[in-house]
Amino acid sequence: MTERSGRKNGGRSREGPGKGGRRNSGATVDRARRRGSSVDDNLLEERKQRASKVVELLAKQYPRAGTALQHRNAFELLVATILSAQCTDERVNQVCKELFAEAPDAQSLKAMDQARLEELIRSTGFFRNKARHLKGTAEALVARFDGRVPDQMEDLTSLPGVARKTANVVLGSFFGRPEGVVVDTHVKRVAGRLGLTESSDPVRIERDLMAILPREEWIGFSHRLVWHGRLVCKARKPRCADCLLASVCPSVSQ
Ligand code: SF4
Repeated sequence: MTERSGRKNGGRSREGPGKGGRRNSGATVDRARRRGSSVDDNLLEERKQRASKVVELLAKQYPRAGTALQHRNAFELLVATILSAQCTDERVNQVCKELFAEAPDAQSLKAMDQARLEELIRSTGFFRNKARHLKGTAEALVARFDGRVPDQMEDLTSLPGVARKTANVVLGSFFGRPEGVVVDTHVKRVAGRLGLTESSDPVRIERDLMAILPREEWIGFSHRLVWHGRLVCKARKPRCADCLLASVCPSVSQ
């Protein structure tokens, strides 16, 4: 089964408003609109129940799931997460060993020669942009946060190159603060196949997941979905026959 067919089975065609035989009543649609969501109450309840089962099953399978980005402090996790855009965690971990040997904190990264920084991070892709963001972030940390990484969403997303996803990684994986759900390529794909969202926009996917998951699950759920996406629900060829979520997944291939 392809990702495309998964979306078809697990998303719109089975659960979409006005499709698959279910009709939204005016009242439920009005309630959904007032809540700022396009999802009606019945669908929300259905997704909550499925999400609850998924949480339970994934927790058993991946009890200690966490980020694969190696880090010793919040600064290292922030830098590694910025570098991880469009790059594998393995590559980022390799690059960061050398980078942190030369720039172990915001002050030293700020002082690092731009060309040297670009050379060190070149293999992670988009290295000029990433170098610019890293320098800008290091400068902002030194200028505004005494060289430390802040633990508030608003402060983190004010840093160059730090969007909500990166901020969620740092807040969740380092500070243990569930301010949102990290939506990376694996979460996006697997959540769609599981029928937990119909959107392909990370911001809307995060909103959909936050609406159906208990807050205390936001951090762990994302980590577990990432691992499940890497190991089982792979992009090109999901291993449905080996999947512990098959009984609750609307996209399971026969
Ligand atoms: S059954 Fe499992 S592997 Fe198959 S699409 Fe669903 S979550 Fe992915």
